[in-house]
Amino acid sequence: MNVECRIWNVGGTQHTTFNILHSSWYSSSMEERTIFHKILDREIPASIVYEDDEVLAFKDIHPKATTHLLFVPKHFVASIADVTPETAHIPGMLILKAQKFAQEQGIRGYKLTFHVGKGGGQEVFYLHLHFLSEELLISS
Ligand code: AMP
Repeated sequence: MNVECRIWNVGGTQHTTFNILHSSWYSSSMEERTIFHKILDREIPASIVYEDDEVLAFKDIHPKATTHLLFVPKHFVASIADVTPETAHIPGMLILKAQKFAQEQGIRGYKLTFHVGKGGGQEVFYLHLHFLSEELLISS
């Protein structure tokens, strides 16, 4: 990590330039924040369809079905590949949330998918469950 910093004198043109060759706070607090962290923190907008204490669900920005939603846990795990005994309940929790949401919406047929790792088509390294259906949401 090489971050250039410049400090200008007030009212003058002189400045000091220096480089930070390695910055652990940058790599841990900024590089690893995914787009889903920013949606959860309301830093960027999303078309939210459901939220509770454990999960946020919103419409996929590039839908691959009539209804394409993403169920994202509020507890961060990067991928199914990173699930441990301590976080093993999260994938099941997401499935139950999607099942309940589908029942409430009257959606009878749907697909649930986890993409795992780059080779499995995962682009956003914040665990999420894809919900795809050819049926419409009540609100759409
Ligand atoms: P995956 O390939 O499993 O990592 O899926 C990531 C999904 O996130 C893709 O289907 C993207 O279309 C979707 N996506 C990326 N950015 C956004 C966004 N800002 N809002 C909603 N969906 C997004």
